[in-house]
Amino acid sequence: MKVRLRNPDREVELAGGRKIHDVLGELGINPDTVLVIRERELLTREDRVGEADVIEIRPVISGGSGGNRMRCRRCKDPAVVEIRRHNAAFCADCFLRHVREQVKRAIESHDMFGPTDRILVAVSGGKDSLALWDVLLELGYRAHGLYLGLGIAEYSERSHDVARAFARERDAHLVEVDLARDYGFDVPTAGRKGSRSTCAVCGLSKRYVFNRAAREGGYDVIATGHNLDDEAATLLGNTLRWQTDYIARQSPVLPEEEGFARKVKPLYRLSELETAAFAFLRGIDYVVEECPLVAGNTQLRYKEAMNQLESTSPGTKAQFFLGYLDRAAPLFAMQDEVQLVGCERCGQPTTGRFCAFCRARAQILGERLEGPGAERGSPRRPSDDRETAEALADEVMPVEIYGTPGR
Ligand code: AMP
Ligand code: ZN
Repeated sequence: MKVRLRNPDREVELAGGRKIHDVLGELGINPDTVLVIRERELLTREDRVGEADVIEIRPVISGGSGGNRMRCRRCKDPAVVEIRRHNAAFCADCFLRHVREQVKRAIESHDMFGPTDRILVAVSGGKDSLALWDVLLELGYRAHGLYLGLGIAEYSERSHDVARAFARERDAHLVEVDLARDYGFDVPTAGRKGSRSTCAVCGLSKRYVFNRAAREGGYDVIATGHNLDDEAATLLGNTLRWQTDYIARQSPVLPEEEGFARKVKPLYRLSELETAAFAFLRGIDYVVEECPLVAGNTQLRYKEAMNQLESTSPGTKAQFFLGYLDRAAPLFAMQDEVQLVGCERCGQPTTGRFCAFCRARAQILGERLEGPGAERGSPRRPSDDRETAEALADEVMPVEIYGTPGR
């Protein structure tokens, strides 16, 4: 039989007539990290494949390039998705319901938003954010999409097409921002010219644009597609470095405060495998390729480490992250005493004269960063030192850490 592998694309011939479990074993693939697809159908570890079959093994990890059927827990039909940490399997319909229920539960238990709130969903064109937008629309929420063009060659073009097609099919509104058109630089240039790593400036730009688009568009809340795997990997990274201030802010809801829109992560209870299976079963065309610039970033290594633990002890990720929310987060909560003021350049909230985005942008474009009072020689404010310290901390702890104080 033919096996098609992705990231990078390749094909191998293997002996058929056996279970998916054995096929994955021979290929050394952890079943929790892939979807196994035959034509338009998902297969579980217990399904058998024949000699003439062609199957696709599609990785679900984002952040890098890597007869005796099970029965549905709910209705006892043949299962198509297995969730080992719940010791459960679902048929397609019951699985879709399971995902929507998990999202509903996340929204309600954290009071993320209500039926009249205007929601801006940040959509990258990947499985998570499109699945999220789909669920919110299905649940009847007032959700618009936001696509940010990062200028990463074909990868960005394909992401843009996918996001636009999704919006068109559902007659949903997509807000479009383009870094190069609207701010004069793209991510590859930023990585070459600025002092920050490519991933750091990309993350900074996303936080900035998401917030600004939400505030200026009059949205109540901004929602991102971060899933359980993302959050567990980020928490692991923050914990390994004891970044207590980041740990304190790693909540599925960051409340609105002085110039910052409320931010929510309604998929935090769902694994990557679940969001990928959901997107597939809903027929959502999403970008399977990963960003070509992030290969091997630290976030990806933490995900791989968590997956290794998960493969021998299913449930580890959920215990780690959901357990943190339940029992550890209160221990890290602290008073945020920083005084926020408007950036002299763009008006977005910051602790210093200029926000981190405007400082990075000026550096990339080779511009001097002066506020309106510059000609009169405005005095240095004490906050400048703090600003410098924060900028340095950003260099050390850059990349993936999203929803951190982007100030
Ligand atoms: P990432 O930073 O790639 O891990 O993505 C985390 C979340 O940020 C995604 O689930 C999306 O909600 C959002 N996101 C990432 N890239 C974009 C983009 N180019 N445009 C809009 N939203 C994005
Ligand atoms: Zn600014």
